[in-house]
Amino acid sequence: MLLSERIRGIKPSATLALNAKALAMRAEGIDVVSFGVGEPDFDTPEHIRDAAIRAIEEGFTRYTAVGGIPELKDAIIEKFRRDNDLAYEPEEIIVSCGGKHVLYNIAQAFVNPGDEVIIPAPYWVSYPPIVMLAGGSPVIVSTAEADDFKLSPESLEKAITPLTKMLILNSPSNPTGSCYTESELGALAEVILKHDIWVISDEIYEKLVFGDTRFWSIAQVSDEMKSKTFVVNGLSKTYAMTGWRIGYVAGAREVIGGMGKIQGQSTSNPNSIAQKAAVAALRGSEDFLQAMIEAFDERRKHLIERLNAISGIHCNLPGGAFYAFPNVSRYFNVKADGKIIKDSTDLCEYLLNQASVALVPGIAFGDDGFIRLSYATGLDRIDEGLDRMEAALKRLA
Ligand SMILES: *Cc1c(COP(=O)(O)O)cnc(C)c1O
Repeated sequence: MLLSERIRGIKPSATLALNAKALAMRAEGIDVVSFGVGEPDFDTPEHIRDAAIRAIEEGFTRYTAVGGIPELKDAIIEKFRRDNDLAYEPEEIIVSCGGKHVLYNIAQAFVNPGDEVIIPAPYWVSYPPIVMLAGGSPVIVSTAEADDFKLSPESLEKAITPLTKMLILNSPSNPTGSCYTESELGALAEVILKHDIWVISDEIYEKLVFGDTRFWSIAQVSDEMKSKTFVVNGLSKTYAMTGWRIGYVAGAREVIGGMGKIQGQSTSNPNSIAQKAAVAALRGSEDFLQAMIEAFDERRKHLIERLNAISGIHCNLPGGAFYAFPNVSRYFNVKADGKIIKDSTDLCEYLLNQASVALVPGIAFGDDGFIRLSYATGLDRIDEGLDRMEAALKRLA
């Protein structure tokens, strides 16, 4: 065995095999409708692209400060003050190569072997491996569809032990789209402060909220809560900049300093050109964002209505992000293609084979009764995919 023990404990992504199959079908010329993508289907806005081109032409192409250029840190500090009414110093901020890199480095700088990290399920796929790669133990706490997949203060308290270091919250959530209210966060904060644990608040979908849903950060609950929170955010989703790789965090300066050490010995600074683009994004007009939100909102309503019209499927209306997470367990223990569909992976395989629709099984997010559909795709493709799904599911009924 050539692999380090560290890597041996990490399972390959449950979605990889299905994804490879979908790609192979496409390569054969089959028209696969993909609900799998986890990124906006919009181009990065022009004023952001222009800032990057300017950076290249002005020769801003060398190493920068490891934790981000002062101009970008200032733009991030302004953003926190403007959007979240939160005040930070530059030493409390670090910029990394995407939100995922931020999360990874927080775990490396903050989690000790044996520490427990509470992760409510359904969770974003990378949280458990990120904790494990730091030697920590993920403690998965299930939430209920009837509670809109939100962690209650009671179940949080039950999961806390003397080994608990922190909780990872993600609101709006990938995969469920659910978004905690101000009072729900206040109630969680009471438990968190009582037990003196920490929180990573992954707020990458902060701006992608719809209808009456209002975003609120747990760091806004109180100064005390703010001091125990790492607020993680990034440019990928809000500004359709997934490929640019810029994410950031605000939190305790000692840990931020530790993350700077890790970056100094591993990646060095995030891409200089992308940092200039990020300044333009954070300080620029949000007209583009409004148009993107309107498009997502229209798709959201349409998709959820159509999903709920399919017999046996139930889907909550998500308040944010760009995912739907319907309950499909009614289709388990049904025979298809000569075998029993026993879980979300089997159902996704059936729908890929029989309807050429690519989906992500809920098990990848720690909840097997569900599947995830991304609506970062046009309305006509959403309808085409749902027509096919509906027909294929009817044959199972
Ligand atoms: C997309 C995503 C991220 C981070 O994405 P980056 O491209 O690495 O910035 C973080 N958390 C969640 C829940 C996401 O869906």
